[in-house]
Amino acid sequence: MPKYIFITGGVVSSLGKGIASASIGRLLEAKGLKVALQKLDPYINVDPGTMSPYQHGEVYVTEDGAETDLDLGHYERFTSTPVGRVNNVTTGQIYYEVITKERRGEFLGVTVQVVPHITDAIKERIREVSRGKRFDIVITEIGGTVGDIESLPFLEAVRQFRHEVGRENAIFVHLTLIPFIRAAGELKTKPTQHSVGTLREIGIQPDILLCRTEKRLSKSLKGKIALFCDVEENAVIEARDVRSIYEVPLVFKEQGLDEVICRYLKIEYKAGSLHAWKKEVVDKALSPKHTVKIAVVGKYVDLKDAYKSIYEALNHAGIANDAQVIVKRVFSEKILKSNCHQHFKGITGILVPGGFGMRGIEGKLTAVQYARENKIPFFGICLGMQCATIEFARDVLGWKGANSTEFNKKTPYPVISLLEEQEKVENLGGTMRLGALPCHLKKETLAHKAYKADEVMERHRHRYEFNNQYRDEFQKQGFKIAGVSPGGKLVEIIELEEHPWFLATQFHPEFKSKPDRAHPLFREFIRHALLHPQNANGAADFSPKEEISRAERAERAEQNGAESAGERAG
Ligand code: GLN
Repeated sequence: MPKYIFITGGVVSSLGKGIASASIGRLLEAKGLKVALQKLDPYINVDPGTMSPYQHGEVYVTEDGAETDLDLGHYERFTSTPVGRVNNVTTGQIYYEVITKERRGEFLGVTVQVVPHITDAIKERIREVSRGKRFDIVITEIGGTVGDIESLPFLEAVRQFRHEVGRENAIFVHLTLIPFIRAAGELKTKPTQHSVGTLREIGIQPDILLCRTEKRLSKSLKGKIALFCDVEENAVIEARDVRSIYEVPLVFKEQGLDEVICRYLKIEYKAGSLHAWKKEVVDKALSPKHTVKIAVVGKYVDLKDAYKSIYEALNHAGIANDAQVIVKRVFSEKILKSNCHQHFKGITGILVPGGFGMRGIEGKLTAVQYARENKIPFFGICLGMQCATIEFARDVLGWKGANSTEFNKKTPYPVISLLEEQEKVENLGGTMRLGALPCHLKKETLAHKAYKADEVMERHRHRYEFNNQYRDEFQKQGFKIAGVSPGGKLVEIIELEEHPWFLATQFHPEFKSKPDRAHPLFREFIRHALLHPQNANGAADFSPKEEISRAERAERAEQNGAESAGERAG
């Protein structure tokens, strides 16, 4: 039986529970332990696939085709454990399962209740993570903030779980905030005391506190937190702000978090080292030799979570090329032919990520055209590949009005059209072409050079595809089909001849990039951006845009309500 770590969050949201959980995973893997990570999300949606990015950020797609929370991306980037459908559980899934059973009469006439039926179903999902597999530790992160009504059944379930498996087999880690009050010039522990108090009311006494803070916690402050929250002093771990998220495991290790966990869980372990992680990831991320400026053109650029894996994959490619990748997030709706030069001044790589719906498409097409004509390295992903196709049809083949049938059903040139298997689909949730599928690479293509392989597996999330009826006409004009699905059925990668590096994929390579193993396509994209003659290698001058607030997010999601059902909002 594995040992369990349950991670809760207190005081406020957005403290980085996902990164903390992933970092603990990394730390324990470094001790030779086999770790699995899981996230429990309290919302009623079955998965985030139908949510607007303003509400939820990126939808992370797993190998087995589950549409999941973006924290699962952190789990895969920080650890070697693969994640799949079982690793993300939502209230929606739990209720769906329990109600389906009830309809089948499986509860034999009893009243179906939150306790025990919902909590039993939750506990079952926690056990499912390690079923048939050998893990030493299962780390389960509970979404939301302690005190929320909606996470109560999850907390009650993990409380019962620990009671059932025993104290030596499960611990609670609570991530909390120690705010610095500028006027008083002091760090304050009261919110943490309250949040631990709230946890205790539901019967959970945390064993370890991870304290998010912008200042160092003094020994006496740690002592005070330990005393009032009833944890050991060396189980009060400072989680201070760091420059790179990949530093977090190092910060935890410095304070002996791994030792504390192993002691509480009575686990035998090797000494373990994060030396390679430090050298190959953190040191390189923090002191790069070169600089390169990349534009990411999308409609959710004011929300850094919306393209999380893309930004991370760009960072990894930077690490692999010893370069700092400075990302300019360009709002697609603002791009016009007349202002392209301004937007892309100093930019030596343009990336158009995935997306759904009509809004901002014309700006993306203009960005593609700019990259194509000015020979700026271009990387299109999913919708980005579809835009590259539409742009080529319109501007090179001269097909006026060419489009995707997603945006104009009556287009005279439907160069992107609905996948055959999609035509009868009615429900929106979980019905796209999803998950890892093989792609055959043609020799002598940029893709083949990057991957150095004939076949790769990549993850998908789309309904539309390159319309095969037009293959010949495109190819005659220098539009290369560099990767196809088995049997050559679907176009998976396109490239342009007579361009230094113009490549676009129907799949999402960003989901498979790791800090110590940059994705080959991202790595090559950044390498070419660095080689571009206009790369000034200059200092950063793009301050990141202001993030929008939660309230604003909700408002925008509402405004976009008509398009906000997963693929409509995207
Ligand atoms: N909207 C497009 C499709 O459904 C692209 C999807 C995406 O970029 N993930 O095919």
